[in-house]
Amino acid sequence: MAQILASPSQSLDVRGTCNPRIEAVAEMLYIGAMKLHTLGTGGPRPDPARHSSCHVLHAAQRHVILDCGRGAISGLARAQLPFADIDLMLLSHHHVDHIGEFANYLITSWIAGRRKPLRVFGPPGTAGIIDVLTKQVYDRDIAFRTEGETAFGPFIGAIVTEVEEGVVLEENGLKISCTRVEHGHGLPFGKTFLSRWICLSWRIEAQGKVFSYSGDAVMCDALVHVAREADLHLQCCYMASSELQGTHFSGVGKYTLTCSDTAGKIAARAKVKRMVLTHFRQTTPALIEEMRADIGNDFSGPIAFSNDGDQFDI
Ligand SMILES: [Zn+2]
Repeated sequence: MAQILASPSQSLDVRGTCNPRIEAVAEMLYIGAMKLHTLGTGGPRPDPARHSSCHVLHAAQRHVILDCGRGAISGLARAQLPFADIDLMLLSHHHVDHIGEFANYLITSWIAGRRKPLRVFGPPGTAGIIDVLTKQVYDRDIAFRTEGETAFGPFIGAIVTEVEEGVVLEENGLKISCTRVEHGHGLPFGKTFLSRWICLSWRIEAQGKVFSYSGDAVMCDALVHVAREADLHLQCCYMASSELQGTHFSGVGKYTLTCSDTAGKIAARAKVKRMVLTHFRQTTPALIEEMRADIGNDFSGPIAFSNDGDQFDI
C-alpha cells in the first residue's frame, strides 16, 4: 500500500461549494437500498450524448465511485451526490476514459469539503499515476489553494492500494473483490507492456445483494466468475455485431471490448439476474435495438441500456 498524501486529522468546517442540505437528502434516499447511478456511459471517443466511464454504487451506507473518466465531476454534480462524503473509489484500469478526471475529482472533492483521504483501489501503477498528478502536474494548483486560499485547509489526498485479485476490502457490511480480466491482451504487445497492463473487474456484496462491474473486458473465465449470479451486472458493450467490420473494429470486438455478439453469452454463463449495458461507442436507437436482439439470442434475463444519469435499484 502506498500512501500518497493524507491529512486525516483535519477537521476544518469549510465545505466550499457543496450544499449540506442536499447531501443530507441524498443520504436519506439511499438508506437500506443498493443503488447504481450510471454517470458516464460512453467510451473514449467524443460523444455529445455520453460522458466517459464513471458510475456510483450506493451500498451499505457508502457511495463507491467506479472509475473516473471524462465528465465525472459534472455527472456527480447533476446527480447531487455528496462530493464531501465519498471516500472510496475503485479503478478498473488506466485508459484515459476511465481515469481522465481523477485529479480533478481529488481536488474538487477537497475544496467541496472532503476531510478524509480518498481511499483508491486500482491496478498496479495507480500509486505512481496519482503521485505524478499531485506532486508534479497539479502541485501548483494545490499550493495555490493551501498557501493562498487557506480557507480550504491543508490538502487531503488519496491513500492508494494496488490490487490484482481477491477480496480487497471487507468492513461494515461491505465486501469488495476484484479479478484480472482480458482487455486488449490478445493484441501484439510485448511482454514488458503486458506486465504493466493490469485490468480489473469488480464485485461488491452488501445487504444480501451482489453487484458486479466488468470494467473494460472481453469474454474470459475471470469475468464470468466475478459476475457469477450477480443481482445486477454492469457490462461494457461497445458496438453492435453489424459494426464489427474491417480489421480495426473486428479486432476491437475480439480482443478489446465486449460487443453485443458476446455480452449475452457472458450474462448467460455467469447466470446474472439482470444486466445493464454501458460504455457505448456513439450509437443510434436502431443500433441499440440491434444490440438488444443480439443479446437476447443468448440471455433471456432482463437487460437495460443505460444513459448518463440513470439510476437502478438493486
Ligand atoms: Zn479501456
